[in-house]
Amino acid sequence: MITSVLPTYSRAPLSFVKGEGTWLIEADGRRFLDLGAGIAVNALGHANPTLVAALTEQAGALWHTSNLYEIPQQKALADKLVEHTFADTVFFTNSGTESCELAVKMARKYFYDKGEPDRVEIITFSGSFHGRSSAGIAAAGSEKMTKGFGPLLPGFVHLDFGDHEALTAAINDKTCAVMVEPVQGEGGIRPLPDVCLKGLRDLCDEHGILMILDEVQCGVGRTGKLFAHEWSGVTPDIMMVAKGIGGGFPLGAVLATENAASGMTAGTHGSTYGGNPLGCAVGCAVIDIVADPDFLAEVNRKAGLLRQKLEGLVAAHPDVFESVRGAGLMLGLKCKVAPGDVVNAGYANEVITVPAADNVVRLLPPLTITDEEIAEAVTRLDHAATSLHAS
Ligand SMILES: *Cc1c(COP(=O)(O)O)cnc(C)c1O
Repeated sequence: MITSVLPTYSRAPLSFVKGEGTWLIEADGRRFLDLGAGIAVNALGHANPTLVAALTEQAGALWHTSNLYEIPQQKALADKLVEHTFADTVFFTNSGTESCELAVKMARKYFYDKGEPDRVEIITFSGSFHGRSSAGIAAAGSEKMTKGFGPLLPGFVHLDFGDHEALTAAINDKTCAVMVEPVQGEGGIRPLPDVCLKGLRDLCDEHGILMILDEVQCGVGRTGKLFAHEWSGVTPDIMMVAKGIGGGFPLGAVLATENAASGMTAGTHGSTYGGNPLGCAVGCAVIDIVADPDFLAEVNRKAGLLRQKLEGLVAAHPDVFESVRGAGLMLGLKCKVAPGDVVNAGYANEVITVPAADNVVRLLPPLTITDEEIAEAVTRLDHAATSLHAS
């Protein structure tokens, strides 16, 4: 008999009842160190007092009106994002995949309005993840996500991750955009080297096509910059954001230049909940904290500490781990054993990690993790790894 909850997830037998910063408390009272942060969502930890205050204050005043009216919290958050990024304008969504939907529509509409209605193809890369909506699964294109769900949204061209020559060859008069994650998350914490991002920008400029970055997982301070592409010095035309920006409240956004957004006039797109007062009040509080250079400097310092300790962990368990990779507090442990076994051994030692593709275990702790928590987390991972080679 089917379960009351549609059985689309294979869940760990853990049920958390409370969160405090980097800690999650299980129904049985056990305290887990959370290096998953709800897959890079709880960027400022669980029950962050500043975010709780922002949410409850807004909850007591007004939850929802509709985009039929001005929403001051939405404008405030858009102003902050415009101030701190390449973007001139922002549309708010409730999730990453909704941001993907708009990014695709925006890129196509841009060329339609320019009198090039056949320029509809978007180039994407193997190992990418852009969400589970029709555009998202067609964009990523992996059989695991698309099988049985056809006909898929047409107009995506899939290339091998990092193959610059194939990319150069693939761009033609049907191409409207390239969509890429600066650091692949689900694909196994695979950073796109800065030189590739620069090369991609040059190619887009040369051909007059749009560069769409998916920073849903790697954005909002995760890599030690407010957005990951800032490390490379190049800026996109369109950027997809979600996950960390709401700190745990469902919130997403599409950021764009005035030029890229030029086709999106009144009536061309909309959302009932997108940009609601609750989400935007929390988003403002998140951006106020994360965009502070002192906060980002701390993320970088702690990222260095975690990475150094993980290098030690890999060296101590060469039969379990192969290497550490990633950027900032978005790190991956490439495993020699099944990553699911490492994650399960972590659960047994009360530390939470997240599996990814390419035999990788992801570490995406709250950006507020402390030095002591980093040390304790790596001790727990060490015990987990020891339990694996004993078996
Ligand atoms: C999680 C994720 C998405 C999809 O976000 P949802 O909020 O689950 O729809 C899209 N792109 C990337 C890179 C992601 O990590």
